[in-house]
Amino acid sequence: MNFFRKAHITFDQIRRQWFSPTSLQFRLTAGITIALVLGLGGVALWIGWGMQQLLVTTHIQNVEYIVDRFPHDVGLYRDMFSPTIAVQRAILQAEAGGGNEYSSSLLIWVSNADGDVLVQSRSLQAASPSFQAMLMSLSAMPIQPQVYQISDRYLVLSSSPLMIDRSAFGQLYVAQDITEEQLKLMTAIRHVSLTTILAILLLPLLIAVYIRRSLQPLRRMSQLAETISADDLSQVRLYLDSAPDEVQELAQMLDKMFSRLSQSWEQYRQLVGNVSHELRTPLSIISGYLQSLLRRKASLSGAQIEALEIATSETDRTIQLLQDLLDLARLDGGYLNFCWETIVLNDLLEEIVGMSERFSDRSISIEADSPAIQIKTDRDRLTQVLVNLIDNAVKYSEPSDLIVVRLAQTEEHTTIEILDQGCGIPLHHQTRIFERFYRVDEARTRYTSGDSSRTTAGVGLGLAVVKSLVKSMGGHVAVSSKPGEGSTFTITLPNL
Ligand code: ADP
Repeated sequence: MNFFRKAHITFDQIRRQWFSPTSLQFRLTAGITIALVLGLGGVALWIGWGMQQLLVTTHIQNVEYIVDRFPHDVGLYRDMFSPTIAVQRAILQAEAGGGNEYSSSLLIWVSNADGDVLVQSRSLQAASPSFQAMLMSLSAMPIQPQVYQISDRYLVLSSSPLMIDRSAFGQLYVAQDITEEQLKLMTAIRHVSLTTILAILLLPLLIAVYIRRSLQPLRRMSQLAETISADDLSQVRLYLDSAPDEVQELAQMLDKMFSRLSQSWEQYRQLVGNVSHELRTPLSIISGYLQSLLRRKASLSGAQIEALEIATSETDRTIQLLQDLLDLARLDGGYLNFCWETIVLNDLLEEIVGMSERFSDRSISIEADSPAIQIKTDRDRLTQVLVNLIDNAVKYSEPSDLIVVRLAQTEEHTTIEILDQGCGIPLHHQTRIFERFYRVDEARTRYTSGDSSRTTAGVGLGLAVVKSLVKSMGGHVAVSSKPGEGSTFTITLPNL
């Protein structure tokens, strides 16, 4: 199952990286491949056509030269022989081509107006009757400067009227058999085509791999950028060795941008810290006054008491919010001090659970592997973490639901689990609930007026503080939850 999931992811990634029409990889590969197919195909066609033209032109010039010379040769023999014998001698002369051997590839004949052959060369006499018949029927048509195919032979043909003693003797035909050259040319064209097709099939693959390698620095850069969080901004350096200059430039620009962002982020943190600090003090004084007023209940009307209670709870909620913001700003800046001491975790939990039970009127049970689990920690900070998580377990479950806090210790770690049977958290929210100001669903939060310490819902900072505190203590916090069944928050701390 796992393998198929991995395989599926890999195929999906391959599809996205190699075949996504919007990717640079795909566009460059497709563009270069199209240019390559057109370029190589065009060159191959041009080479084939050029070679064919060269062959035809050379042989046509040759046969036209023979046709032009022929009347002159006939004239030389005509002084001694009859017209027919003179033509025969001239044919022998042309066949010999100046030597003693006759060329079997040269076919010469003279026909009269009815198409009957008057005189013919020896090579034509030796040819098969069917070939002769096809050649005659071809000569009846207008002759073009091109290659003619007759059965398995290739010929170029030229013709001219033959005049002897100023009167028409017949039509002279000269055909050159170029079968051998034509077959060689066709083999050469086949080789060129095959090489071109192979190149067209192979080169795109090589080009795709090359482009992929060239884009690798960009991919590395986006992987690096993906891992950068707001806190890392000041240390980020997107240095990529052996990357092209353009990518290095981009990396440098991004580095500068990160450093500007880091400065702004630092200023923002300081501002939040300062504002929270400055607001918290007057609000604490206001809260003190309100509580002292509330203590004199006897002199107040019912409406006044209710108004004072709401004002007190809202002030306390705002103080808590400012405290969370201040803690986060200090944790981000690394200047929240921890007082490390060895404590018995069971005792601390008894205290916290007892306090929560009193405030929430709920029963919370503790399960521990051992009655005295010792841990070196900051007592106040761990209390803050546990109060937050137990408070959430109370807030997001029904009064009848059970809440359990479980303690366990191994040689290296101590784990604290807070289990509830409440509304649970949908899977897609589970990774986000530790973000600042992230709340799953405003409607799920119960308004619990009457409880002066925690009267209304939070603002989504509690778990962010928990995560930062636990991280600063060297541990980590995780959640597992099923909607409708409940949630378990697990804190793992190292045994220092
Ligand atoms: P809040 O102040 O809104 O509780 P927190 O950061 O503590 O903010 O929690 C973030 C969100 O996570 C809450 O809004 C709530 O929806 C969800 N959540 C936290 N703890 C629980 C829990 N035990 N059960 C169900 N949902 C929870």
